[in-house]
Amino acid sequence: MLTSPAITANLGSVSMARRDTGEPIYRNLISSYAASVAAHGTRPSCLNGTVTNNKEKRMLSYDVTEWGKPLQPRERATPVPKGSEVLLKLKYCGVCHSDVHIRDGYFDLGGGKRFHMSDRGMNPPITLGHEPYGTVIAAGPDAGNVPIGKDRLVCPWIGCGDCARCREGRDNHCMTPRWVGVQSAGGYADHLLIPHPRYLVDASGIDPAWAATLACSGLTTYSAVSTLAPIPAEEWVTVIGAGGLGLMTIGMLRALGHERIIAADIDPSKFPAAREEGAAATVKADDPDAAGQLQKIAGGMLFGAIDLVNNTPSATLALSSIRKGGKVILVGLYGGEIPLSLVSVVQRALTICGSNVGTVDELKQVVKLAREGKLKPIPVEKRPLSEVSRTLDELKAGKIIGRVVAEIG
Ligand SMILES: [Zn+2]
Ligand SMILES: [Zn+2]
Repeated sequence: MLTSPAITANLGSVSMARRDTGEPIYRNLISSYAASVAAHGTRPSCLNGTVTNNKEKRMLSYDVTEWGKPLQPRERATPVPKGSEVLLKLKYCGVCHSDVHIRDGYFDLGGGKRFHMSDRGMNPPITLGHEPYGTVIAAGPDAGNVPIGKDRLVCPWIGCGDCARCREGRDNHCMTPRWVGVQSAGGYADHLLIPHPRYLVDASGIDPAWAATLACSGLTTYSAVSTLAPIPAEEWVTVIGAGGLGLMTIGMLRALGHERIIAADIDPSKFPAAREEGAAATVKADDPDAAGQLQKIAGGMLFGAIDLVNNTPSATLALSSIRKGGKVILVGLYGGEIPLSLVSVVQRALTICGSNVGTVDELKQVVKLAREGKLKPIPVEKRPLSEVSRTLDELKAGKIIGRVVAEIG
């Protein structure tokens, strides 16, 4: 998940350079590539490695060339790392639901308002994909000790590197972000350039396709749970939304040792999976008495709620269920707004907190939990990179179970 309204409002200061659209000679290659993929599902040899008319190495990406339209294959020069930059040859990139919104060109802010990517300096062509995993193949002269030849997960939430937030390792709160697949070229590509090796995370010992998904959904849920922590063992927490992100949140709470979890969703068919993941109880979120049921299970009001949906009904349920001094962590990007009694926030000493992705250090903690076996793998389906646009279509239609990871090379 990414770009909650509070954070994305800050993107205005970022200007995104328009990247080249590809010389005519490559348009033919791209057409033949698309035809070959359609016919054989494979990459034609003419696009492997160096293109014949010069010695320049070329890379392939699947890009938004027009908001709301299918991604298009596009070739351009493979970047050569300068300064502290690092170049990876990608193996996998997870396909996240956030990219459905970015491909459409906007997020719904509620109340009929939209956050348009183009209003914040993002203009096609752009390469999405923020769950990249690949082999480090080159680095600039100032990059220091870089694990050339080794596979690494990339933490995509990269800041300016200079501000107070970045210096304390809170890149995800930087006011001038350079997020991979948002403000800078992302992982729906065979190569990826990042500004510094500190964003590389060693994820050896776990399935690399699963590792890729940890960079967004894993990190987002870990950071949300950390925002709610410390959670007393005897207190109850509800996780609203039992889709992919909700299941991961339940798994993350369990990985960190918390057991008193209630999964709330409007779709009861999701409850068996929620219980399997570790929820102790379930509540149908659109039941008129849902808040009362939550409180009954908890033996009183709840300690906190993590809202992976974050629309008007879900946030209302979260706020009406928690006790004095309780916390609501808003994570989802469904969109909407709620009327808020300001006096009630004071009298109930509530904390309403947005949680947006996470830090490099938190991602290392997520990988550690996965490596130790405390975090259960989610179902991962691998598909060729050429199918990424179709995958976004299916995500938009709610047809994907588990997580799809683009297999790149
Ligand atoms: Zn994401
Ligand atoms: Zn910064």
